[in-house]
Amino acid sequence: MLVTNKELLDAAKAGVYAVGAFNVNNMEFVQAITTAAEELRSPVIIAVSEGAIKYAGFDYIVDLVRLAARERSIPLSLHLDHGRDMAVIDRCIGGGFTSVMIDGSHLPFEENIAVTREVVERAKPKGVSVEGELGRLAGIEDNISVEERDALLTDPVEAVEFVERTGVDSLAIAVGTSHGAYKFKGEPRLAFDRIEEIAGGISIPLVLHGASGVNQTHVALANEFGAKLAGTKGVPDDAVVRAVRLGICKVNIDTDMRIAFLAAVRQSLSEKPEGIDPRSYLGSGREAVAKVVRAKIKLFGSAGKG
Ligand SMILES: [Zn+2]
Repeated sequence: MLVTNKELLDAAKAGVYAVGAFNVNNMEFVQAITTAAEELRSPVIIAVSEGAIKYAGFDYIVDLVRLAARERSIPLSLHLDHGRDMAVIDRCIGGGFTSVMIDGSHLPFEENIAVTREVVERAKPKGVSVEGELGRLAGIEDNISVEERDALLTDPVEAVEFVERTGVDSLAIAVGTSHGAYKFKGEPRLAFDRIEEIAGGISIPLVLHGASGVNQTHVALANEFGAKLAGTKGVPDDAVVRAVRLGICKVNIDTDMRIAFLAAVRQSLSEKPEGIDPRSYLGSGREAVAKVVRAKIKLFGSAGKG
């Protein structure tokens, strides 16, 4: 059943767990994620980026997720990840998405507020949730100064003003994580103090982007079968659990599924060099993604909440 992010995340905040937002680009990922979520009776957010819309086509990707929502008995939302193009955001609001993110984090504070408020004004009347973002997503390096650290991380005082003036339903914050498979040069570190400060000042659910764990077993498996992934480093599981306890209610996962899918497809192709059936290697990839999603749902504490 299709619901909004607001519904899912307000419940997560009350219950002190997080709902996973998993990115999809194709049918195999939609099936893997919703199968795993239903098995564990977990709510789930299906995240679609502007790039995914470009790749799959708007109607294809929307209809895939809506079909899954009809077929599954768990609550799930269809969410635009990192919306920046107002035309795409408008199409999502009017075209079946139940939640959109407006990413104005690259803009100066006042401009971020203006563009975010604009999206809230368009989305709210249609019953669509809005996620905003404040702060710069970047890893905290070992030799970074306090001033440099503060310039990247979300400012707790600004966060209060941002939420009040925009009316967003949830807020993505920068606390030391970054996108992709190469998050940290030194030891992984998250600004837990900052999560706590921000959570103390605002009442809406907080969102953590760039939170993949970058499982080294999956990286090694992919490399064993020809990938060249070196120096990858992600957010440790215990850090994610701690962040959820401090107020994170939505955790975005993309990289971990990509690496697991890649490793499984490479292994399958390598072990059956005579094969030509796409169902064989895509099926292996699909099963690997479902396994990642099951583990994440357990980690976030959302099992049994759907
Ligand atoms: Zn993100």
